Amino acid sequence: MRNEADVTAERAYFDWNATAPLRAEARAAMLAALDVTGNASSVHAEGRAARRLVEEARAKIAALVGAEPQNVIFTSGATEANMLALTPNLGAVPRRDRLFVSAIEHPSVRGGGRFATDELEELPVTAEGVVDLDALRTALGKSKHPLISVMVANNETGVIQPIHAIAEIVHTAAGILHVDAVQGAGRLDMAELGADLISLSSHKIGGPQGAGALIRRAGLAPEPLIRGGGQERGFRAGTENVAAIAGFGAAAEAARVGLATERARMAVLRNRMEADIRTVTPELVVFGENAPRLPNTSLLAVPGTKAETALIAFDLNGIALSSGSACSSGKVQPSHVLAAMGVEPDLARAALRISLGWETTEADLDRLLNAWKKVVSSLGKERRGRAA
Ligand code: PMP
Repeated sequence: MRNEADVTAERAYFDWNATAPLRAEARAAMLAALDVTGNASSVHAEGRAARRLVEEARAKIAALVGAEPQNVIFTSGATEANMLALTPNLGAVPRRDRLFVSAIEHPSVRGGGRFATDELEELPVTAEGVVDLDALRTALGKSKHPLISVMVANNETGVIQPIHAIAEIVHTAAGILHVDAVQGAGRLDMAELGADLISLSSHKIGGPQGAGALIRRAGLAPEPLIRGGGQERGFRAGTENVAAIAGFGAAAEAARVGLATERARMAVLRNRMEADIRTVTPELVVFGENAPRLPNTSLLAVPGTKAETALIAFDLNGIALSSGSACSSGKVQPSHVLAAMGVEPDLARAALRISLGWETTEADLDRLLNAWKKVVSSLGKERRGRAA
């Protein structure tokens, strides 16, 4: 019998939008931090050593989004960062009377955070999966003090949202803009997003799972979700997870430094992959193909197939990919993102997400293409079988 390690050696990983492998820099930073004994709140030398690691990481995360380190709030991940951001009470500014979120947001945003259901409104997207700016302008007319949440790029389609234009519209309407930047980090330059609140997740950029951050504009003070010892300037109580934060910081730095090279390399690989797959399967549909997209993401479908069946077949052939978002792949439900784009449920059920990263190689793509030929021809038989 083969053991787990043998299987892993033969596999190719195409689910980077769900989580990325730990970067070597993050692993080294975490291992070093695990040997630091102090509590980052203690005044003695041990405590100060832990504090130094947290503050070094804070500076690296701030640099990724062009913010001041003191405005970075560490959280347990982007889900918590989103929940922290989406509150009517943002401190000195007037209470937010309405929350507008795009229809393609992650569930942790679509849920509306701490707003009442009747204060929450969804903004439509175009057929290419881009937020409809006219609808945004009209919607903002309904609120005096709105909070708006739009992601920088969608986790399923990779479609990039026009955040600069959105920020201008929102700020003209005296609104505050929150941006879930989870999928943009390390793939887009985010030094000048123009957002007032930004959420990041460590594990999408090669840091450990279970760490994230909310970055706020100076002057904004989101009402804490967790109160207690006053850590994180009172915004998030609880002894800091120093090793995870150190790993997150190291990953953020590596992502920032490697951005230009990684972005260019991923785009070449992704474009080759789509072209190769299309040669084998000319009826292929690539969602959001005509919109600007992340360089690493393809959401595609072969009409008449079923993603759940395909996923299992790919897995058995050593290929890890996903149908829509990982968060919803356990449930047999068509993606809310494709539904918002007006995609027919049958076609949405065929959608497979292939996402690449900095370790993806040409050999991985060869393996994917071989598996594609096998899997899709067997699904083709299934299709013909059903039609007969
Ligand atoms: N937002 C987006 C766009 C995501 O893709 C994810 C991860 N699936 C999250 C938020 C949640 O991040 P975390 O896993 O750190 O809670």
